[in-house]
Amino acid sequence: MEKFASPGKGNGLRLLKAVKPGELLYRAAPFAYIVSKKRLGGACEHCLRRKERLFRCSQCKVARYCGAHCQKEAWLDHKRECKCMKHIDPNFPPDSVRLVGRIIFKILRQSACPSEELYSLSDLQSNGDKLSEDMKEGLRHLARTLQLYLKVEIQDVSQLLPALDIFQIFAKVTCNCFSISNGEMQDVGVGLYPSMSLLNNSCDPNCVVIFEGPQLHLRSIQEIQLGEELTISYSETVMPTPERQQNLKRQYCFECDCFMCCTQSKDADMLAGDEQAWKEAKEVINTIGAPKSCEEWEQVLLSCQTLLKSNTSRLPDTNIYQLKLLDLAMDACINLGLLEEALHYGNRTLEPYRFYYSGFHPLRAIQMMRVGKLQYSQDMFSQALETLKQAHDIMKVTHGTEHSLMQDLMMLKEDCEAGMPFK
Ligand SMILES: [Zn+2]
Ligand SMILES: [Zn+2]
Ligand SMILES: [Zn+2]
Repeated sequence: MEKFASPGKGNGLRLLKAVKPGELLYRAAPFAYIVSKKRLGGACEHCLRRKERLFRCSQCKVARYCGAHCQKEAWLDHKRECKCMKHIDPNFPPDSVRLVGRIIFKILRQSACPSEELYSLSDLQSNGDKLSEDMKEGLRHLARTLQLYLKVEIQDVSQLLPALDIFQIFAKVTCNCFSISNGEMQDVGVGLYPSMSLLNNSCDPNCVVIFEGPQLHLRSIQEIQLGEELTISYSETVMPTPERQQNLKRQYCFECDCFMCCTQSKDADMLAGDEQAWKEAKEVINTIGAPKSCEEWEQVLLSCQTLLKSNTSRLPDTNIYQLKLLDLAMDACINLGLLEEALHYGNRTLEPYRFYYSGFHPLRAIQMMRVGKLQYSQDMFSQALETLKQAHDIMKVTHGTEHSLMQDLMMLKEDCEAGMPFK
């Protein structure tokens, strides 16, 4: 793999040989990473695994670990921030502030970082001059919040590191950080992987980024020719082109001219059906936060059921807001233990997923794995096995056989094959 000047896009990455789909092209440890605020208390701060019971750091009482081993491993990164967190308690810094705090402590430690192999923190683009005025004001506000957060450890960052411009660091983090997702593709954290910032965007990319804990894996999902640029998708692609482009422009300051954007090929399907109906669905979806309790899930399910009922014959399941409703209803049912009803919604999502996430796409594999599991829960062994087999074929490419999610899938398949009772 090598860095090169990609026409019209600044720097890029390309391969020195041709590859088939399903190859692990790069493995990168983060320069710095954190568990995102909304997952705090639900995932280990070191390995990012989800666990029912986590142990609290006895000092700040905020950081949580799955055990003594993880806590010990994380101490170097947590030591100084621990004092800061304790100091500002009961407040808690926004994700980007906590991440920049860790970046600064790491710079001060002056330790070499393998994630800077191809591209270093100082090489990173900041787009500082291209940002909109309100984005700039937002970043200035974050820089002030950071000063307050770090105060107990660093009196004045600008004196300690005169060459370091805090505003620039925030600008770099905004357009270079990666959302770290867990096996189910849910966001759990945020991290910076400088070398991987060389990857440019395509809404129909030839590579995918998958995480194993905080480790980033870059894998090929299409055939890639010698010298061809490697691309990933920076944002969710199932979104009407104008909306997707607006997001890319706002956060990353560029206009995407990929094939998907130029042809807007699936836009008509995304918004098919009665406009009034999907606008209503969109509005309701936007009000749903992150439900946790049973009552909250029951509320979500009720809203989805009502809308789905009134949308019958008004919206096809391929309409992206209708699809979102089906996904939410499925989530709600799983959380409430209504597995038969969950399967009904899950089944309806498979065709739209196949249409939008065609080829090798991790989201489609994971959706199939979930539906397969639900089929298994209803003793539909042969259907479940068929669905899990299809999930397996995609995941071999997107995740690789070594990935922990793949191990989970294999176990599920074996239990299902043996006709073991579902647990
Ligand atoms: Zn852990
Ligand atoms: Zn602590
Ligand atoms: Zn595009």
